[in-house]
Amino acid sequence: MRKLLVAGNWKMNGSVDEAKALSAGLLAEISDGASYDVAVFPPFVHIPAVAAQLQNSDLIWGGQNLSAQAKGAFTSEISASMLAELGCQMVLVGHSECREYGHESNQLVAEKFKQALSVGLTPILCVGETIAQREAEQTESVVWQQIQAVIELVGMESLGQGVIAYEPVWAIGTGLTATAEQAQQVHQFIRSHLSENDDIIARRMRLLYGGSCNGSNANALFSMPDVDGGLIGGASLTVEDFMAICQQADALSNGE
Ligand code: PEP
Repeated sequence: MRKLLVAGNWKMNGSVDEAKALSAGLLAEISDGASYDVAVFPPFVHIPAVAAQLQNSDLIWGGQNLSAQAKGAFTSEISASMLAELGCQMVLVGHSECREYGHESNQLVAEKFKQALSVGLTPILCVGETIAQREAEQTESVVWQQIQAVIELVGMESLGQGVIAYEPVWAIGTGLTATAEQAQQVHQFIRSHLSENDDIIARRMRLLYGGSCNGSNANALFSMPDVDGGLIGGASLTVEDFMAICQQADALSNGE
């Protein structure tokens, strides 16, 4: 049985004080030993403040990106070991905003995935198609190429140590959510393709949905057999909105 994961990507928002207040608010609402996992991804410079709040709790924190290099003359970059030193357990790789604005290729994303694993971080590999690609019926080929690049570099066993987040680019921050059926269709495609490589890993891997997920649609999305939680952007920025999603995960995890 895969445990649901609700992950909040705070992107480039807020101040240190707001990050502290948000993490303290979540801490007050989410009990230790919850039936689902919760992770937050603050901006890099807010991580120490969030870590101070969340240490000794079950809540997970992580980075929104990392360097593909281990160390050295890479001005502005943040290494995997720097994140690990701040207590991060997870890191996002290949978010569509990094692919688009940072021109991150499938190959570079795969190298970042490898770096994350090298220090014991769990990478969340973000994949997804643009609206033009969907309309051209390229969703499956685009998503599979993004995953395949990682398998080619690190192998299936290592891919299985991460999480995959299917995030249709046209649904991110737009208020347009994939329907639960559309999400399930792509998740099922991913899982069945993974199982051609390794059925045990495919059945164990968590596949998150991301793209305008909120308290009103989370139940339908997370009820789908191959959707194991969500990567949440806008609705992760207030305790109230994020908890509305977490409550759905809680109810579903408890069979309600
Ligand atoms: C995201 O950026 O990962 C995301 C899913 O954003 P939003 O929920 O705002 O669409």
